[in-house]
Amino acid sequence: TVSVVLFTSDLRLHDNPTLHAALAAADEVVPLFVIDEAIASAGFATPNRRAFLADCLTDLDAGLRERGGRLVVRTGDVVEETRRVASETGAGEVRTAGGVSGYAAGREERLRRALESDGRRLHVHDATLTVLPPGAVTPQGSDHFAVFTPYFRRWSQEQPRGVLAAPRSVRVPAGVGSVRAPARADVSGVSEGLAEGGETAGRKRFADWKRAGLATYDDGHDDLAGDVTSRLSPHLHFGTLSPTELVTRARRAGGSGAEAFVRQLCWRDFHHQVLAARPGASSADYRTKHDRWRPAESAGEEIEAWKAGRTGYPVVDAAMRQLRHEGWMHNRGRLLTASFLTKTLYVDWRVGARYFLELLVDGDIANNQLNWQWMAGTGTDSRPNRVLNPVTQGRRYDPQGGYVRRWVPELSTLAGAAVHEPWKLQRAERARYDYPDRLVELAEGRDRFLRARDKG
Ligand code: FAD
Repeated sequence: TVSVVLFTSDLRLHDNPTLHAALAAADEVVPLFVIDEAIASAGFATPNRRAFLADCLTDLDAGLRERGGRLVVRTGDVVEETRRVASETGAGEVRTAGGVSGYAAGREERLRRALESDGRRLHVHDATLTVLPPGAVTPQGSDHFAVFTPYFRRWSQEQPRGVLAAPRSVRVPAGVGSVRAPARADVSGVSEGLAEGGETAGRKRFADWKRAGLATYDDGHDDLAGDVTSRLSPHLHFGTLSPTELVTRARRAGGSGAEAFVRQLCWRDFHHQVLAARPGASSADYRTKHDRWRPAESAGEEIEAWKAGRTGYPVVDAAMRQLRHEGWMHNRGRLLTASFLTKTLYVDWRVGARYFLELLVDGDIANNQLNWQWMAGTGTDSRPNRVLNPVTQGRRYDPQGGYVRRWVPELSTLAGAAVHEPWKLQRAERARYDYPDRLVELAEGRDRFLRARDKG
């Protein structure tokens, strides 16, 4: 018997319930990845994510070969290609991990119908992409939690499923056609400092960070210059690491760093269960409707300055430049740049979310769109009017100014926290720095936001 395992966002051999079940159910398995044309034409296959994905596929193929198998790669329509592979190999079933986006739900539905009409079964495996599957815990009277803290409380009471070992051997039927897996070198326009993808790199990153960073995570996770967060988000996005395994191993390690880390992983599950219940929240306001943003045309220059990291607010600019250079940004940077765009420049969160998705290697519909909504005050934040002041934020989370000096070289000779307020320098000294003036006064931006909110 043959089982096809359609990999999506679970590009790993360790702790993969879908692969595990297929190996138990059939004599031979076809590990399949389809380079989905629909994702490319929707603009979601950006250079950074394509490059990281190429690493992941190369590594997955190598891991399968070590176990006697290989990865089958196809391109085209994911449903049609999967159906074709199933029929070419005479597979009785296809297995895949359950996704949460509207797109993933549609894909599953189409696949189920196509396979059933050929007399084959589709098995969708939960608790692969998240620790708890969406809907596993719900508050009374609703299909999802809209507030994080009660969700976290309930989520913490559940026992995650056991972590599964990587298989020892994988037998793949002979003669299944595959295209060459893409290589990172084939992709142009990739951020210079992009991290390496793949399960091997992800496991090494986690092992190193658990040893050196986990214990200081609680105190240090907001320290921009310290940069002590795990940087595991792209691995979680592509599923080269299992969130269940991370939670289990962090809990085993114990301590306040591990607790804080597990809480952040719960945010990921939280947003996934919101999106699964409300797929429309990827583009529509989730809780508080707000449609009085400045029209993008009238804010064009300011949006461009924000994207380029030339707003005149050093910590905002540092974070935006980190994004461009690495395809990744520190969480504190994401918060304050999102606040700056929506609440100081008063621009629609969708403009910022789209730009983040263009560059972020971990760019993820659930986490990106819902975190943007959180910061814009249309999402799940219980204090939707909060405005983050970039000067205060800079002084608090980059007290020595090291983060700004790293990313804004024009200011690299300014010592200490003075780097956060170059406009306070004496005129002659200010003139020595080739750095833009502030786009807007903070108070002006904040007032505009609050006035508009009050009217609504
Ligand atoms: P750590 O601090 O080490 O946290 C561990 C893991 O917990 C992360 O890898 C991530 O999977 C999860 N996590 C942490 N914080 C959050 C959060 N607020 N929401 C959801 N999951 C979280 N994260 C993405 O994975 N993809 C995105 O597209 C994305 N867009 C964002 C946009 C905005 C405006 C904001 C404010 C946050 C966004 N985040 C996104 C969440 C968060 O910033 C990143 O997950 C985090 O910075 C990744 O770095 P890390 O792996 O070092 O995180």
